[in-house]
Amino acid sequence: MASVTVRETAGAGLYSRKRIEEMSGEKISACFQCEKCSNGCPMVFAMDIQPHRVMHCLQLGLVEEVLNSDTIWVCVSCQTCTTRCPNDIDIAHVVDTLRQLSARRQVKESQKSVAVFHTAFLSSIKRFGRVHEASMVVSYAFQNEGITGVRKQLNLGLEMMRKGKIKLVPSRLWAGKQVKEIFRKAGRKRAQ
Ligand code: SF4
Ligand code: SF4
Repeated sequence: MASVTVRETAGAGLYSRKRIEEMSGEKISACFQCEKCSNGCPMVFAMDIQPHRVMHCLQLGLVEEVLNSDTIWVCVSCQTCTTRCPNDIDIAHVVDTLRQLSARRQVKESQKSVAVFHTAFLSSIKRFGRVHEASMVVSYAFQNEGITGVRKQLNLGLEMMRKGKIKLVPSRLWAGKQVKEIFRKAGRKRAQ
């Protein structure tokens, strides 16, 4: 991945289509607006900019509009759009690149809980080698709504534990070291 400069992280309409292409490695200019991505997307009902329009915005250099959209946080990275694209554009990866850029600046207020969930999810994997639901939900709820958020999740969490759906004590993955190494390499790559 190409490096991101301080000027870019400050964010002031400094990104171009070419820059997003460099960072994602995807040829956004090849999109010919067939709409197959949007027609297959299961989350399109909740998006403010449909996936094919995201590509069009990027082609027109309207990167800030896309970075400020709900779409990049509503996308669940299911890859349906990617598998449907006749031009082999990995749209899900483009959206993920935009999400990373947005997270480095200021995430839109209405979408902050999604960004918090991403962080809690990844922290759990980094720590235990796999997701430990109980601690992840507590971390997410606390960062999102403080102690009130934790209280809200408490009854459901206890019920799930009682039914054996989630565990109180995390089990560590035998490949935990390798997982940590993946995070280390990803962090180094991001910093480049
Ligand atoms: S990866 Fe995102 S944009 Fe693509 S189909 Fe899935 S939810 Fe929609
Ligand atoms: S499926 Fe591919 S070519 Fe068609 S609109 Fe989406 S990104 Fe563009």
